[in-house]
Amino acid sequence: MISSIITGFFFLYGLILGSFFNVVGLRMPNGESIVRPRSYCPHCHRTLAARDLVPILSYMWNKGHCRYCGNPIPPGYSVMEFITGLLFAVTYQVFGLTPETGMVLLFISVLVIVTVSDLAYFLILDKITFPAFFAILILRFFIHPNESYESHLIGAGLGFGIFYIIAMFARGGFGLGDVKLFAVVGLFLGWPRLLVVIMLSTCLGTLFGLLMMVAGRATEGRKTAIPFGPFIALGSVLAVFFGYDLIDWYWSLFW
Ligand SMILES: [Zn+2]
Repeated sequence: MISSIITGFFFLYGLILGSFFNVVGLRMPNGESIVRPRSYCPHCHRTLAARDLVPILSYMWNKGHCRYCGNPIPPGYSVMEFITGLLFAVTYQVFGLTPETGMVLLFISVLVIVTVSDLAYFLILDKITFPAFFAILILRFFIHPNESYESHLIGAGLGFGIFYIIAMFARGGFGLGDVKLFAVVGLFLGWPRLLVVIMLSTCLGTLFGLLMMVAGRATEGRKTAIPFGPFIALGSVLAVFFGYDLIDWYWSLFW
């Protein structure tokens, strides 16, 4: 009972923060302030009232349209809010009220912001990955329940090193923003689960690319840009919750 109430709080907390992460991910790449102006409709630029800003519910009340000009609002905002809420709730369910829960919430927050900005602008900002890296570098020294601190440092080095080399050879298509994100991911997860993220994100990214080609969105000879950041984020989230299970399963295939 108490556990369900706390889970509900984590969900709400994630919903509200998810709404804030949308704003950060969409405004920061433009150099806009995160707090001013207040949120506005992208079509008619009317400042939104408090009742227009309730995560998910406003979207449902207004049936996905701006209350002032009637233009459709992209559902992406609500989807990201919901995903953030869900991930926060699952984090509590899996890790309980532990320091690692705080760590995972921080990591998920970074991943959500990165996903929003990469989807919207093909950008992963240093302004996000650098502070995240140094915060995790310090916090992981004290909180590392699954891996040694060294494993986390090796993860950071591997994540950066492997993808820095790839980015050097694959001119375009794989940006330095992705490289720095992999450094953050490796630092957070430690090197064994970093390998899981590399497997998952490249497989999911390739699969998605193939599906897009089959769907005829990608025309031959022309590169259709697909941001890779969201796949790194998706792989990372899966590795947070299932990383060690996936590693065990993988080894069980050989032993
Ligand atoms: Zn409007």
